[in-house]
Amino acid sequence: PQEARMLDLSGVSASYGSVPAINNISLTMGEGEAVGLLGANGAGKSTTLRAVSGLVKLSAGHVRFDGIDLASLPPHRIPELGIAHVPEGRQVFPDMTVQENLEIGAYVPKAKAERARTLDLVYGIFPRLADRKKQLAGTMSGGEQQMLAVGRGLMLKPRLLMLDEPSLGLAPVMTDVTFEKIGEIHKMGTAILLVEQNVSRALSLVQRAYVLESGTVIMHGSSAELANNKQVQAAYLGI
Ligand code: ATP
Repeated sequence: PQEARMLDLSGVSASYGSVPAINNISLTMGEGEAVGLLGANGAGKSTTLRAVSGLVKLSAGHVRFDGIDLASLPPHRIPELGIAHVPEGRQVFPDMTVQENLEIGAYVPKAKAERARTLDLVYGIFPRLADRKKQLAGTMSGGEQQMLAVGRGLMLKPRLLMLDEPSLGLAPVMTDVTFEKIGEIHKMGTAILLVEQNVSRALSLVQRAYVLESGTVIMHGSSAELANNKQVQAAYLGI
């Protein structure tokens, strides 16, 4: 018998009002994997993450985590299962300190109980945040705020960390640092579902990826397969 995949989307559709955003998306992820969601603006990448974290209602299909249908749970149970969602645009609380922002990330009972230890771990990954723990988040640079947003996601002690365009608007050097940190987090055993428009960067980090176009998966495969695919090269890699 086949074991339940950690994350399993089957035939998932969702819309905003009457506007369809994703249509019949199927995607699976195993424990500890790093998987990319690639595609142009408006392809439905963010909506796919929202479908997992319960922020949009499915009009069709199922999202299962460890075989549990997430639609059967009240929304607050989803982070308790170990699913963290870092949305696009580093939504940190600007008038709170770095440390307060991180502490808020540990908002489910299990994470709260281990908050001090996880905080040390996050400061270990992001020494820059440790140096600035008392600084107001709103006064930090864009790159630092992005690290803080990722750090806050880690405070949940997630098994699955979903990151929506972590490199958006960052200078190249900060993008390098951000990707390096995501790689470290993955090596520590956390599964990563990465939405990214920078396709070559994403493919160097993830093991597999799905390419979305107009709300549907048009292709999926290993990073090497996608990097060598003529269609991907022409549309996303400028080759
Ligand atoms: P982006 O990188 O621009 O966020 P994306 O691939 O993440 O692109 P989505 O944000 O998931 O794409 O958008 C999918 C479709 O749903 C698009 O047509 C978009 O205009 C629409 N959409 C997204 N959010 C909303 C919303 N809050 N209200 C109405 N339509 C939306």
